[in-house]
Amino acid sequence: MLTILGSSAALPLYKRHNASQVLQAGKRMIMIDCGDGTQHQCTRYGVSLHKLDMLLISHLHGDHFFGIFALLNNMQMVGRTQKFYIFAPPDLADLLRLQFKVTDSVFRFEIVFKGLPTDSIDVFFEDDSITIATLPLNHRIKPCNGFLVREKVKPTKIKPHSLPPDLAGAVYISLKNGQDVYDEAGKLLYRAEDYTFVPPSMLYAYCSDTAYTPSLVPLLAGVDMLYHEATFMQEDLTRAIETYHSTTEQAGQIALDAGVGKLLIGHISAKYPDYEPLLQETRKIFPNTEFAVEGERFVW
Ligand SMILES: [Zn+2]
Ligand SMILES: [Zn+2]
Repeated sequence: MLTILGSSAALPLYKRHNASQVLQAGKRMIMIDCGDGTQHQCTRYGVSLHKLDMLLISHLHGDHFFGIFALLNNMQMVGRTQKFYIFAPPDLADLLRLQFKVTDSVFRFEIVFKGLPTDSIDVFFEDDSITIATLPLNHRIKPCNGFLVREKVKPTKIKPHSLPPDLAGAVYISLKNGQDVYDEAGKLLYRAEDYTFVPPSMLYAYCSDTAYTPSLVPLLAGVDMLYHEATFMQEDLTRAIETYHSTTEQAGQIALDAGVGKLLIGHISAKYPDYEPLLQETRKIFPNTEFAVEGERFVW
């Protein structure tokens, strides 16, 4: 599940906050980018500052990370104790160190910082439920990384209402482990595949900010949902090229060429009061597109 906290580029206007979203994948709650005011958005949309496992920062333009100082401070104030991971461009560590020093901040929870590489595809986090890899983006500031979050194969589950309520516990456990159940004479009583299913695993990609980069296409194969920036309408292509951003049609083209399941656009310029024209223009290229409206949750 993906919760959008902000989807504005540069200036936060028209009730659109800067970039931030929270992805629940496997056992992890992952915040991606943290624009100014993200801590308010967490409160507004029910994101627990205790439960976030990590923060991924794509690049060091302010609209993607100015909220980190307040976020960490608020985590301290609500009494967080759980370890918190930050994966970000290496220079952010210098800023955080200085900020902690001048504000005399001492945290009761451990902060683990890891600098992310430039221009490479790197699996930088893995546990038994997910992997996260960088996607090299083409933006004015370097490094600028997208992220590919892949859920591993999930444990088998029992189909709801498929078994009699008085079933012996041992039988239930066998079926849940994928084992067929026989009676003493060797007759098949329950075939595991009739009563169980493997929940789907999702593959999510985040690509913001970036100029049109067709080399991303093979890296996005099999993606269920792609968040791709669409900062400008197609008529503003020149401005998009100058600023290393993408247009609506370019975002749609990447989604189409990669064959993703669904496209989510965001990071639109503050010059557009309404996102609807950008959405309609993108849908002409890739019909299964939605706009990343703040507060909306996307499940796939
Ligand atoms: Zn940006
Ligand atoms: Zn940027």
